[in-house]
Amino acid sequence: MKVVLDSAGILNFRNLPEGDYITTAEVKEEIKDIGSKLLLEARKIKTMLPSKESLKKAEKTAEKTGDIKKLSRADLSVIALCIEIKDCILITDDYSVQNTAKELGIKYKGVLFGEIKEKRKYRMKCPSCAREFSASTEECSDCGAKLKRIKFI
Ligand SMILES: [Zn+2]
Repeated sequence: MKVVLDSAGILNFRNLPEGDYITTAEVKEEIKDIGSKLLLEARKIKTMLPSKESLKKAEKTAEKTGDIKKLSRADLSVIALCIEIKDCILITDDYSVQNTAKELGIKYKGVLFGEIKEKRKYRMKCPSCAREFSASTEECSDCGAKLKRIKFI
């Protein structure tokens, strides 16, 4: 599968699905000042150029969904690239990009999704009697002590 990355995808490389990584020149430009050029090379991320037709289509769709004002040139370029590439997934945390992608039937995935899942893997533990409770409990039902958060797994 082809995995198209916006800047968030490039900067948070850990949670990405397996595949061929692709981005656009506009995204590269956007992250240049964070010193990620070496990062791009080390990770073998290919650069592709979306066609004018795809960019137009991305813009038109974003106008329709009302997202156009929130989208940068880089945002539009990754959406346009996904219009062209079959069997691709777009990695982005930008809600407007996700919303436009959805309208176009493009598969997408947020980068921090994995981290949110990890955050839920907590339970509460009583520091005095060591009983464990669900994450939403705050006080021990046995001794009334304030519970401490522990990692579930
Ligand atoms: Zn207790």
